[in-house]
Amino acid sequence: MGWVNRRRDHGSLIFLDLRDRTGISQIVLDKDLIPEGHAKGEQIRPEYVVAVVGKVRLRAADVINPKMPTGEVEIAASKLLVLNDSALAPFSPSEDAIQNEEVRLKYRYVDLRRPEMQRNFRLRHDIALAIRENLSKQGFLEIETPMLAKSTPEGARDFLVPSRVHPGEFYALPQSPQIFKQILMISGFDKYFQLARCFRDEDLRADRQLEFTQIDLEMSFAHQETVFGVAEQFMAAAFAAAGVTLPAPFPRITYDESIRQYGSDKPDLRLPGLVDVRSAFTDENLAALKIDPALPVVAFRIPNVGELSRKEREDNHPFFELKKGAKFIDDFKRLAKGFPDSAVKVRELAGAVEGDFVIIVAGDPDHPVKASDTKFPGRLSEREISVYTAAGNFRTELAKKYADRHGAFGVTEQVVKDADPWSGAKAVDGSAAFRPIWIIDFPMFEYDLALGKWMPAHHPFTAPHEEDMANLVTDPASVRANCYDLAMNGLELGSGSIRIHRKDVQQQIFKSLGISDEEARARFGFFLDALEYGTPPHGGIALGLDRIVMLLAGAPSLREVIAFPKTAKAIDVMVDAPTTVTDEQLKELHIRVALKS
Ligand code: ASP
Repeated sequence: MGWVNRRRDHGSLIFLDLRDRTGISQIVLDKDLIPEGHAKGEQIRPEYVVAVVGKVRLRAADVINPKMPTGEVEIAASKLLVLNDSALAPFSPSEDAIQNEEVRLKYRYVDLRRPEMQRNFRLRHDIALAIRENLSKQGFLEIETPMLAKSTPEGARDFLVPSRVHPGEFYALPQSPQIFKQILMISGFDKYFQLARCFRDEDLRADRQLEFTQIDLEMSFAHQETVFGVAEQFMAAAFAAAGVTLPAPFPRITYDESIRQYGSDKPDLRLPGLVDVRSAFTDENLAALKIDPALPVVAFRIPNVGELSRKEREDNHPFFELKKGAKFIDDFKRLAKGFPDSAVKVRELAGAVEGDFVIIVAGDPDHPVKASDTKFPGRLSEREISVYTAAGNFRTELAKKYADRHGAFGVTEQVVKDADPWSGAKAVDGSAAFRPIWIIDFPMFEYDLALGKWMPAHHPFTAPHEEDMANLVTDPASVRANCYDLAMNGLELGSGSIRIHRKDVQQQIFKSLGISDEEARARFGFFLDALEYGTPPHGGIALGLDRIVMLLAGAPSLREVIAFPKTAKAIDVMVDAPTTVTDEQLKELHIRVALKS
């Protein structure tokens, strides 16, 4: 039983390619054997649903199709039932490059019939199952937390749900189960996990959706090391489910080092990072080149790009945000004319070989950013960070653009292609294709250029480093947080932290984040109360399931691994949501809509 993928009419023989979840089989309707079935076969169109009774037989040697797993056999039908017809679909599930994504999403049920999508969701199921099994084996209990809850601050806007019973009051959909999982620790469940739905009202991107699934966990009496060990194990299990090995332990790097080496806190390790090339320039050179001598001078290379024309280089310039405190030099011929020694030295320091495209990024004294210069021993200032990030972003964009030339991403694509978790074959080595890295020792606060003040870099339950506590109010820039991110191939997979488990510290942190005592009471009073009743030290993490599946499916967007996603405009084009509701519904909810025309 299945759907007709294709029909070929050869007169007295009609061939149907019958498709179901497992693949395609060829059916033969022979006019001499089943005249009635053959007559029905003439009316059949693509996507009709049919049932066939028949005998599996070997195909004649000259019509064997080696490209099909079932290419050696066919089914000689003795009976054919048409279970349902089908309207002409706007595209066929047998096409594999359907351009218009909106049409795919509108007719998602047709789109999901495509073998690629069937594979993605089977993969997603297997990965989720492997993670559940692994965490269960590690002693974790899956416990559900409410969807109708109270606002949890994860830095996004809340989705609100009006209460009918309590006029003028609202539930918030959880941005994450953060507070609930901490309360579960206070409740004595020392290892909790959940494949949790999270809701964040943010602008959408290829790797972001309004609702998404986290592998959310929390454990009592845990250090950072303990959490890393747990996460590495379930990640390895998830990869194994996709037929790929992922060696553990994962490397780790401090936030400052990550910025210094990659200009990003979610570095892609598949390509060379940034190199400090300050020593290639004399002070006079820097002055002549109008480079800020007090800020970093770095270079990076994209391997194997070859020589670029002026026009080609100029096409890349929009990738670099000028006037944000940083500038770049990508014309090496010109640099070599004016500053031959420097040009040679930069390429040498960057480890560049023939064909590598090298770019220098440095501070731009003509467009200084209004940021803090505060420096603590061994730590980066905000202005330094802005130069490194400018370089990091440029590197990321150019890496994408020249993917065909440097080939580093192709390695990942090949591993994904080679992996076949269902064939019983050995797992493919994923060590070069997937590069996980822990980012540790984040700063507790970030300087917000627009607002001109220090803002919390994480949710407010994150514990500061014990030894930095004294500086909370006096020197916020110096305070490090006890939190960590897991990044892979340039994607942030998730983050976590050791939490504050003492009420007085929690109150102090709220205060340092500019949350007044009254506001803290109103929003988190229940939680401050709970902290008083024997709270164990605890910590946890949450990783994005959708992103992990996206990586392992080799998919370009989250929408390929979420069955019913929203478009970039936050619309579900299949069910047509959001929509208006009736006046009665609004009245019941005590809501009046005030739209400006
Ligand atoms: N609740 C955090 C988040 O959603 C993760 C965590 O700290 O465990 O990013």
